[in-house]
Amino acid sequence: MQARRLKQWDREYIWHPFTQMKDWDQVEPLIIDSADGIYLKDIDGKIYMDGVSSLWVNVHGHAQAHIDAALKKQIDKLSHSTLLGLANTPAIELAKRLIGIAPKGLKKVFYSDNGSTAVEIAIKMAYQYWQNIGQKKKIRLVHLSHSYHGDTLGSVSVGGIDLFHKVYRKLIFKTITLKGHGWQAVEELEALLKAKGESIAALVVEPLVQGAAGMRVWPEGVLKKMRALTQKYNVFLIADEVATGFGRTGKMFACEHEGVTPDFLCLAKGITGGYLPLAATLTTQKVFDGFLFDYKEQKTFFHGHTYTGNPLACAAALANLDVFQKERTLAKLSPKIKFLAKSLKMFYNLPSVAETRQRGFMAGIELKGRPEDRIGAKVCQQVRRYGVILRPLGNVIVLMPPLSISIEELDYLLMATYRSIEDCVNKTQE
Ligand SMILES: *Cc1c(COP(=O)(O)O)cnc(C)c1O
Repeated sequence: MQARRLKQWDREYIWHPFTQMKDWDQVEPLIIDSADGIYLKDIDGKIYMDGVSSLWVNVHGHAQAHIDAALKKQIDKLSHSTLLGLANTPAIELAKRLIGIAPKGLKKVFYSDNGSTAVEIAIKMAYQYWQNIGQKKKIRLVHLSHSYHGDTLGSVSVGGIDLFHKVYRKLIFKTITLKGHGWQAVEELEALLKAKGESIAALVVEPLVQGAAGMRVWPEGVLKKMRALTQKYNVFLIADEVATGFGRTGKMFACEHEGVTPDFLCLAKGITGGYLPLAATLTTQKVFDGFLFDYKEQKTFFHGHTYTGNPLACAAALANLDVFQKERTLAKLSPKIKFLAKSLKMFYNLPSVAETRQRGFMAGIELKGRPEDRIGAKVCQQVRRYGVILRPLGNVIVLMPPLSISIEELDYLLMATYRSIEDCVNKTQE
């Protein structure tokens, strides 16, 4: 009875994100009521493996004992107080911890509450820095094609996925898009910086993996080269590690693979272990100093979200980092990454698989077919029969389980995905 009512109210009251609501009525909504480890339980008591970490955020599993305990402790002390004009204990401790693990040279933490704002803040800081120090011509932002940096208008401006971004083109600010991928993008960047470097404020990238584009993986060395070029031409590098941060690529941050320190590091998704909304934009002393003027000069960074530095979210983030240490999460991840790589090869036995891509614990299986056939969505619907939740990106099946998944569970996830692709293809041919 309760279940039926919830399903009715969901249809009646909720507008779901990234969802054609016309289609929503045609399927039974799956309503999650509780979770434990890598498993989600729905209101009917059915259990599903969380194959995409609740949209790429969960790290050590749900109801993780240490994070739960830290949150309960914090809730008895302080749930929220503002960072505008005040400080709070967990926000200070977390800022210190983040600087401790971030690429060397990043010194300051600016909080917000989601990935889009983490990027917006980096963009605004980069732009204003050049204005503040009198380099007024440096106003343009450069980004890659197929880039995704979030859904607010500033981050949409540096987005390159037509399906999401095209409709807003007249509303957003002008940017420069590097059309090529990998080394081709590097070549374009070099030519651009040589010709117009003095008018460019920053290059924005998702280092190593363009997640929302369908797990497009960069060739090795590209990030390092882009860093060298931006340095040479005095242009900021904004690294959006909202998806890649907190262990996803096998190291704490993707930038570490190539020994790169960006001028801005944008963090969100995994920062709280997938518990609460929190984001951070890390930057250097140089950028920070570019905002230190007499108040009357009006060069302050006038930006801040109401829940900035929320103590509960910061407590969860601190506990998340504790668990990384206590559980040796990254060391234990390495054999799982190898197992994933080995298992993905098997998918080429399926004629409907165009390509598999992987970097660390981020993987995508691209299926052949026209976008309008929505084969990705069909496979992800089918895989629920095997007790697994997945969410596709167009024709790409994304595999991004919590880092805490065991090899056996990972094996099951891959098997269920394999069978679901087989099932869907056979069904279409019938
Ligand atoms: C998810 C994502 C964002 C946006 O984060 P939100 O919290 O959804 O606003 C930005 N950049 C990248 C690379 C992402 O994967």
